[in-house]
This record gives sequence, structure tokens and C-alpha cells, in this order.
Amino acid sequence: MNNFRYTHSRNPREAIALAVETPDAQYVAGGTNLLDLWKYNITRPGELIDINKIPGYHAIERLPDGGLRLGALATNADTAYHPMIEERYPILTRAILAGASQQIRNMATNGGNLLQRTRCYYFYDVNTPCNKREPGTGCSAIGGFNRIMAILGTSEHCIATFPSDMCVALAALKATVNVSGPQGDRSIAFGDFHRLPGDTPHIDNVLQRGELITSIDLPPKGFAANSSYLKIRDRNSYAFALVSAATLLELDGDTITEARIALGGLAHKPWRIEEAEEFLKGKSATEENFAAAADLILRGAKGYPWNSFKIEMARRVIIRNSMMALDPSTQLPGANPPL
Ligand SMILES: Cc1cc2nc3c(=O)[nH]c(=O)nc-3n(C[C@H](O)[C@H](O)[C@H](O)COP(=O)(O)OP(=O)(O)OC[C@H]3O[C@@H](n4cnc5c(N)ncnc54)[C@H](O)[C@@H]3O)c2cc1C
Ligand code: SF4
Repeated sequence: MNNFRYTHSRNPREAIALAVETPDAQYVAGGTNLLDLWKYNITRPGELIDINKIPGYHAIERLPDGGLRLGALATNADTAYHPMIEERYPILTRAILAGASQQIRNMATNGGNLLQRTRCYYFYDVNTPCNKREPGTGCSAIGGFNRIMAILGTSEHCIATFPSDMCVALAALKATVNVSGPQGDRSIAFGDFHRLPGDTPHIDNVLQRGELITSIDLPPKGFAANSSYLKIRDRNSYAFALVSAATLLELDGDTITEARIALGGLAHKPWRIEEAEEFLKGKSATEENFAAAADLILRGAKGYPWNSFKIEMARRVIIRNSMMALDPSTQLPGANPPL
């Protein structure tokens, strides 16, 4: 039996102060990841701080610069189906709808989505060594069954992937994460929010103790005319990505004037290589050029005995998804055409 205290906080400053002064405190939003981790004994909060009633964190609203602010407590479902998201940021709608199930998306919040933990099998099995769950015990995945693991940015201490779909789209859109903490408010560029494992794989992101995600800002540019999300997985629904890609293109005729490509299922964070995006600038939108960009993105990829297939799969996903972005009518929300 694990005893814990439960506090419902409506005041962010009070919630933050309580989180800072209580070493084993955790916030709970939709609970769709936290409760699983708790049931599997991976986490054991002594103080559960329910943030769902904090006013102002649920809204999706326009920003003065023409961008959009997504409240941390807005649900994934409300975000995906919001008329301004569907119209101006369809990549976000497609990525969110490619994840989980409708019931889970109804509970899952935007802040919680950024903080969901890896789906590495060994992380969830408390009987096996895992540096992310218990630092210094070793990594069972490196010499074990590693089909779903990372091929980019890995370390000798951890080869886990970050499982979010929504975050792949947010990385491509160059969103900003707004947080409040004991030292005040700050904003973090999306690309800097999640970390690579290095020798501290138990730290997933740059949030400091007690910091609360308040909202996520989307820049004005949504690349609505030419964007595509493609997710390859073992089952066609209710499964995490083996490989996914969010591609955003801006075109002048056949010429690419701007490109963004972010990948999921391959690393400890959504993977973007600016050199590849720069390479595409000014080039024709052809399979050959997307293939060359794919080679740049996947440079240094390292497969393990069970997941080397991901390298070629990722290459094909990048090319295919870029071609799909040229003609968004090839996509249905949440659906994957066969490879
Ligand atoms: C069966 C299943 C299938 C899934 N499939 C997919 C999938 O295919 N693709 C995908 O992307 N996701 C998938 N998910 C993950 C789901 O999207 C996440 O569980 C969800 O987004 C987490 O949000 P939440 O509000 O429920 O977070 P919670 O579980 O409440 O919290 C998660 C973590 O975030 C912290 N937290 C929450 N909100 C804040 C905040 N505002 N500030 C600071 N800390 C906070 C909590 O303390 C906790 O540590 C799946 C989940 C399940 C259960
Ligand atoms: S890959 Fe990371 S999460 Fe998985 S067992 Fe190794 S250390 Fe743990």
C-alpha cells in the first residue's frame, strides 16, 4: 500500500510552491501516462497535485503576432479538432489523431503529451535493469529485444525513443513551450525542450523541479497548403510509431522555398536536422532531392540487432511523406496509406 496526499490546486503559484517543497510530489493532468506508471510501480508520488482546475490553462487563443497559444490543459482532442488548428495547422491535427485512441485523446492534455515517458519495454518491467528508471543499473535494451528503440542520438546508457506524435508536429512547426516555476516564467524553444540520453537518461527534458508547463505557442506560419504526417506502426491504430515524419513545405511553383522535416520513433526526442532543411531550400521538389535530404537526416544512424530495419524505413518515410506534402489530398486525418 502506498499512501499519498492529494491536493487540488487552482492557483499555479501554490501548486509550484508545494511541488518545490515536497520531494516526491507530482502534478497530474489527464493522468493517462502517470497512472500507468504508478500502477506499474515505476513512480510512487507521495503528493499528487491535481492541476486540472487551474483557470486559464485550457484555452486555445490567438496571439498578437498571428500565432496561436495552446493551453497546457487543453485536451489533445479539443486541440486536434479546433477549427483554427484544422485550418491553419493541419499537421498538428493529423499528428494528434495518429496517436492513442479517441478516449485517451479526450483525457490527455497538451502539457502531459510533452512529458509522457518512453515506451521501452524494459522501462516498464521493474524486474529488469534500466538506467532511465534506476540510474546506474544498466540498459537491458542494448543487448536485448530492441525493435522499437532508437537509431539516432543514442548513448551507451540508453537507446529509448520518445513516443509522442504531437511533439513531432510541434518540432516541425518550431513551437515554444511556456513554463512557470519557482524563479518565474520562461519560454523554451521546442527543439531545446527534450534531451538526448547521454549519461543521464533518467532526465527526459530541461524542466526544473516544480516547473509547470502553462502553454505552447505556435508561430504564425502553419504551412497549411503543403504539410503531411506519416506514421508507420505495427498495427494501424492504437500503437506507437516505429517511424513517423512531419513534413512542412513552402513552394514557389516546383521550387522549395522552405522545408521542415521532423521525425518520431527514432530518437530520445523529435529529430530535426537543419542542414537537410537548408539543403532543400531553392531545390526542385523531386524524389531525388528528398532522398538526398533523407541521407543528411539519417547520417550517423546506428541500428541494433532487432531495429536496423528502421534506417531504410525512415529513409522511405521521409521521401514518401515529402511527396505526400506536395499533394495533401493524399491524406486522411489519422490514416496511413500503405507503404
Ligand atoms: C494506451 C495508450 C496509447 C497511447 N498511444 C499514443 C500514441 O500513439 N501517440 C502519442 O503521442 N501518445 C500516445 N499515448 C500517450 C498519451 O498521449 C499521453 O499519455 C498523454 O498525452 C499524457 O497527457 P496527460 O494529460 O494524461 O498526462 P499525465 O499522465 O497527467 O501526466 C504525464 C506527466 O506530465 C506531468 N504533467 C502533466 N501536465 C503537466 C504540466 N502542465 N506541467 C508540468 N507537468 C505536467 C505529470 O506530472 C506526469 O509526470 C498513449 C497513451 C496510452 C495510455
Ligand atoms: S533503452 Fe533506456 S529506457 Fe530502455 S532499458 Fe535501456 S536505459 Fe532503460
